[in-house]
Order: sequence, then structure tokens, then C-alpha cells
Amino acid sequence: MRHTSRIEISKSAYRRNIKFIRSQVGDDTIISAVIKGNAYGHGIENIVSIAENAGIRHFSAFSTDEAQRVHQASQKDSQIMIMGMVDNRDLEWIIKNGISFFVFEFDRLMTAIKVAKKLKTPAKIHVEVETGFHRTGFEWNEKEFLADIIYEHGIHLDLSGLCTHYAGAESIANYLRVQNQIKQYRNFKSWFDSHGIKFGTYHTACSAASLSYPETIMDMVRIGILQYGFWPSQETYMSKFKQLAANRKNPLKRLISWKSSIMSIKEVGMGDFVGYGTTFMAHRKMKIALVPVGYCHGFSRMLSNLGKVLIQGKMVSVVGTVTMNAISVDITDLKDVKKGDEVVIIGKQKNNEITVASFSETTQQVNYELLTRLPTDIPRKIVY
Ligand SMILES: *Cc1c(COP(=O)(O)O)cnc(C)c1O
Repeated sequence: MRHTSRIEISKSAYRRNIKFIRSQVGDDTIISAVIKGNAYGHGIENIVSIAENAGIRHFSAFSTDEAQRVHQASQKDSQIMIMGMVDNRDLEWIIKNGISFFVFEFDRLMTAIKVAKKLKTPAKIHVEVETGFHRTGFEWNEKEFLADIIYEHGIHLDLSGLCTHYAGAESIANYLRVQNQIKQYRNFKSWFDSHGIKFGTYHTACSAASLSYPETIMDMVRIGILQYGFWPSQETYMSKFKQLAANRKNPLKRLISWKSSIMSIKEVGMGDFVGYGTTFMAHRKMKIALVPVGYCHGFSRMLSNLGKVLIQGKMVSVVGTVTMNAISVDITDLKDVKKGDEVVIIGKQKNNEITVASFSETTQQVNYELLTRLPTDIPRKIVY
């Protein structure tokens, strides 16, 4: 059966992005590909396959269900790490399959030890410490108790990592907060060092931190948005601008293109309202194309009378409100448009391009949000 739209994922773009990331983090740092949120909308299975072909052997998920999809898709025995939600009842599967996970609560730690003991397989844990993000992480005053547990149950634990996450490394407004976090992380590290507790990897950096705070690049970086070809923020791009100016080219390339086709065409007279309500009145005799993509497909209602798509390589405007399954676009000035013609919602057509960033400009929707709201049931295809 045919879907109303389709998404293409470029593997050559991915390779190029990894090459750039590698140039930033050095040869000795593990790049963990963050695949939460259905791999930022790209499809976990697609990204695991493309990434493994590009040499990636480490993946970061938010939750166990995502980790399970990586586990099933992986062909190269890659390491999988869960950074967020783990239900204690899933620990058995996780530990049995050698999947590592963040630990930031004694409850999870004690259960992990119990399960590891039962399975006679050490639990691979990443101890997350609180440095100022204030979401998850062991507090400074919990470290002694934590160390005691590690001393006592060490044989059931594989101390895979010591980690933290920064509270907004993509914006200079958070500079002081991030600096304090780096300091506090170092305090934790030295304290564990001086108490004889060593971790397999030390990792703190996401995409923005890797670019803007190179001192946060340690044994491993957890890279999400960059690998998909997007800058974490305009600001991060600007801060790299000087360095990039030398080759005058954006080193990142978007993987994703989103396409549909014209469903039907209709002529309307001057003064006619198009679609629900009265938000758009034809100011002349017009030709309107219906495109079967609406807010249920992730095309925000906020793009009513604002959004653009490409047809015949030309930018055309959404007229009227975005409805659940469709938008109307103004094709009055295009010649020979017919039903079935390609419509590009994100991507290139002839000499024009609609970027993901252009959505943020009109709707404040950040690229992270737009991508992850693309429904999983739109078919995705890997292309060159
Ligand atoms: C999402 C996430 C990342 C990756 O963030 P990007 O900005 O996409 O690089 C890294 N670490 C943690 C803990 C995360 O939740």
C-alpha cells in the first residue's frame, strides 16, 4: 500500500558528518551515536545500519525499548548504553545482553547488583553524577555511600563509565552554569580517583559541548543531532564559523528528505475561502493543490498560512489552515502542474531547498522537535 508521504535517509551524508565529528573529537575518542527519539526521527534500524557501516560501534538510547531495537538491528556486536529510563523488571534482559546503563539512584544500583549476582554476569553501569543539570545524578553527599556499595559489591559491577550531562551547552547564556558543571564533574572524578575507584570511560559531552567546550571531550562523546547533519543551535554554528571559514562550506549535511505528491488540483474564484474557516480568502482566481500531509504527520498547525513546500523546484505557500491530513498550497503561478507531481516538504528540488531550520524560523519549533515528531509510520528509505 502506498503512504501519503515518504522519507529518504542519505548514508553518504551520514559518513560526511561522522568525518567532521571525528575531526573535532580526535581519533582516540569513542563516538557514541545517540539514537533516542527513533534516532531523531530517522528510524533506529536505519541509523544503526548506516552508522555501523560508517564504523560506529557504540549507541546511546534513552530507554530499554530503544536499546532492544538497536540490539536487534545491530550486525556488528556494537555496545549499547541506556541513558535514561530503565524499569527494574527489565534489568535481567539488559544485564544478560551486556547492555550498559546509567545509574543515578540507589534503588536501581541495588537491584542491578541483585540481578547481576543471580545471573553471574556483572552489570555494566555508568555512574551519573549531579553537576548542575538537576534532573538525574548522584549528589555530592552521596558519594561515600556509593563508594561503599562499589567496594562491597564490586565483583557484580563493571564500572563502564562516570558521566554527566550539561544543561544547555548550545547557548552562551549557560556558559557559567556549564563551567561550574565541568568543575564539579572533575571534583567527582578526582574524589573517585583518590579513593581507588576507576571507571572504564569518562564521558560528558553531547554535540554542542564537543564543539564549544573541547575540554569536555574525554574517552567518549555522546553525539545526537550533529550526526544527523544539524547544528545544535545557530549559536554553535556561529561559534565554529571562524574555523569553518577556511573551507567556506558547511561540513554537515542533512540526511533526511521528506516528500509527498499532489493529491488533487482545484481552481477557486476570487473571494473564495480556502479550507476550514476564513483564514484564507483567494485574492484572485487561483489554482490550489492539495498535498496529503497534515499535522498528524508532523506538519505543524502553526504552519497554517506560513509553511512552504517545493513543487517543480519552486517555493509555494500553504494557504489556509493545516488540517489533520492535508495542506492546500498555491500553485497559481506554476505551469503544467499535475496530480501526482512530487512535493518536497524537507529537502532539495532542482535549485531550491527547504531546510529543517526554516521550520524553526516560522514556528519556533527547534530541529530536535520537528524531527522527532515525524511519525514512525511514514516509510523511510535509505538512499545514497
Ligand atoms: C540527547 C542526549 C545527548 C545528545 O545530545 P545532542 O545535543 O543531540 O548531541 C547526549 N547525552 C545525553 C544524556 C542525552 O540525553
